[in-house]
Amino acid sequence: MSYLVLARKYRPRSFEQMVGQPHVVQALSNALKQRRLHHAYLFTGTRGVGKTTVSRVLAKSLNCMGPQGDGDITAHPCGVCQACRDIDAGRFVDYVELDAASNRGVEEISQLLEQAVYKPVVGRFKVYMIDEVHMLSNTAFNAMLKTLEEPPEYLKFVLATTDPQKVPVTVLSRCLQFNLRPMAAQTIEEHLAHVSAEERIEAEPGALRLIARAARGSMRDALSLTDQAVAFGAGRLVESVVRTMLGAVDAAHVMLMLRALAQADA
Ligand SMILES: [Zn+2]
Repeated sequence: MSYLVLARKYRPRSFEQMVGQPHVVQALSNALKQRRLHHAYLFTGTRGVGKTTVSRVLAKSLNCMGPQGDGDITAHPCGVCQACRDIDAGRFVDYVELDAASNRGVEEISQLLEQAVYKPVVGRFKVYMIDEVHMLSNTAFNAMLKTLEEPPEYLKFVLATTDPQKVPVTVLSRCLQFNLRPMAAQTIEEHLAHVSAEERIEAEPGALRLIARAARGSMRDALSLTDQAVAFGAGRLVESVVRTMLGAVDAAHVMLMLRALAQADA
């Protein structure tokens, strides 16, 4: 089996598995349970805090058929039905992820909007996820607004952005907005401890702490750094190795230098 990078292997597949965003998870779970579904969601937050993850879980929640095929909209997608498995594998025809920052963003969005008039092929809902939505051109925003103003009942938009200020107010006002917070270093550290235990990677607590801090609130970055650190440390997470890798200055070393300077001064 080929090696799967940690950020992909440990991408949460349910709301329960999501770390560090309890307010968003709670609100979405309640909305799903009570069938108070909005037709457009906007997730804001810096990179690696879970915007794409929450979008995929939401798409599964809306389309899950349940293990026996008699399921309905749920806050706990089963993970085993065709819809859940296809969304996890990135091959569900009615769930489309589009990166507005890519070169073909504008072209792709107009194609997507043209297809919005057709009902879902296999799912209950079509879910269009548009990442970095603030990068869309005005033409693209206007085209999207038309659909947002009179959305067919089977269509859900999930918009994500690192820069909500650049999203037109006309679009913002039609979305239910959730802010995903940068993750606390403590939260990241705990998750890294869990992941390294699962992976049977020997990890020094100091190494995890350094990585957690260096990730600056992004779980994805933390897991990528962990991949790197494991490679550098020949399969182990060693504090001194991580420190070298991160190019961080050793605090203990600084203290020694300061003491030496103080003595030289005296
Ligand atoms: Zn399912």
